[in-house]
Formats: sequence, C-alpha cells, structure tokens
Amino acid sequence: MNSRTLDRRIKGELEGFLHAELARLEMSLRALARESRTAEKTALTDVNVHAADALETELQVTLLDRRTQQVAQIRGALERLSNGDYGLCQDCETFVGLPRLRALPFAQRCRECQSRAERRVQRETFARSLEPHSELEAA
Ligand SMILES: [Zn+2]
Repeated sequence: MNSRTLDRRIKGELEGFLHAELARLEMSLRALARESRTAEKTALTDVNVHAADALETELQVTLLDRRTQQVAQIRGALERLSNGDYGLCQDCETFVGLPRLRALPFAQRCRECQSRAERRVQRETFARSLEPHSELEAA
C-alpha cells in the first residue's frame, strides 16, 4: 500500500464521517444561536441571577467560537479531500498517516509539526503572561 495516498474506500469513509460531523456541529450551532437569542430577551433585575446569566452567556460564546472553528476545520478538510491535498501536513507536506486521520479527520499537520505548533503557541502565551507591559516598554 502506498503510504502517501488514501484509497477510495477510506476516502469515502472519512468523507462520510466529516459530513456527519459537519451536520451535527451545524445543528448545535443553530441551537446555541437560538438559546442566546432567548437569553437576551429575558431582562432580569436580580443582580445574582444576572451574573449567573452573564457567565452562561460567556460559556455559550466560548462554545460557539469553538464550534465555529470546528466547522471551518471540517469544511477545509472536505475541500482538501476534493482537491487532493487531504492528509498532507501543511507544514512539512508529508503524509499525516491513516491512524491519525481516523482519530482526527480534519488534522492539518502531522503529529510532530502539530506539537511543535502547540509548543510555539504555549511559549507565546507564557511570554505574554510574564510581561504584561512589554508593549509599553518596547515603545
Ligand atoms: Zn509535518
């Protein structure tokens, strides 16, 4: 078996999974949008209830963000499936590997590049938390 390509059957399988996942996420997004509209309409005077409500809205926004991001990832994966780039790491262009694609069908990087990218984000976040005034100092 050529390790750089996916056979038609496996592609079909992953494509089916991606479509199902996309449908599920879009349904969840619609439900979240409906919920937040309902929450906005409920005008509350009690401060405690209002605070709890604000927290819930915040959680919903976070969830909404994450879902929107996932939808974009899946759309991207479906696009790559149709143009033949699917399964190749966007950083080093090697084949990501079938076990990884089965576990993470919208993976855009191989395991190594992904952990490198995550370490980079962590370092940047950490550096920012250490130097809250770095922007001022640089000026
Ligand atoms: Zn890579």
